[in-house]
Amino acid sequence: MAENRFLFEITTPFRKVYSGEATSVIAPGFEGYFGVLARHAPMVASIRIGEIKVKTDSEELYFATSGGFAEVLPDRVTILAESAEAANEIDVQRAEAAKERALKRLAEGKKVWDVDRAQAALARALNRLKVASRVGS
Ligand code: ATP
Repeated sequence: MAENRFLFEITTPFRKVYSGEATSVIAPGFEGYFGVLARHAPMVASIRIGEIKVKTDSEELYFATSGGFAEVLPDRVTILAESAEAANEIDVQRAEAAKERALKRLAEGKKVWDVDRAQAALARALNRLKVASRVGS
């Protein structure tokens, strides 16, 4: 592998979402987005709801994730995520429905719904809609 590239993988408990060579990755860490290039010092970071941006030699790819962990090694970066979808895999109608459901629950309030859970569902849905809008960009 060329010096400026590394193996990048996104996996969930259910499937391998992506595996390929990358030149850079930007991921949503708890203290903000962080970037990784080849030969990065080893580290483990928590990932939260957000967008993963991957550059390869020929393209830029976008993924939505609901959070998890990133293991960074000099020649390999692995994200183990609770869920992750490539921008073109996102079902926009489903995310719109999840958004409306969460907004309705937040409006009805904490006497009826678990508000923290509804907030998290809303954040996942809004993130999916944002990442889906990257398709073709
Ligand atoms: P929903 O209420 O629509 O299920 P959710 O945010 O609760 O949304 P998750 O629990 O985060 O869903 O994900 C469950 C599974 O469904 C994961 O495998 C995730 O990749 C997939 N998924 C969820 N929403 C979408 C979507 N809009 N498009 C494609 N896959 C999705």
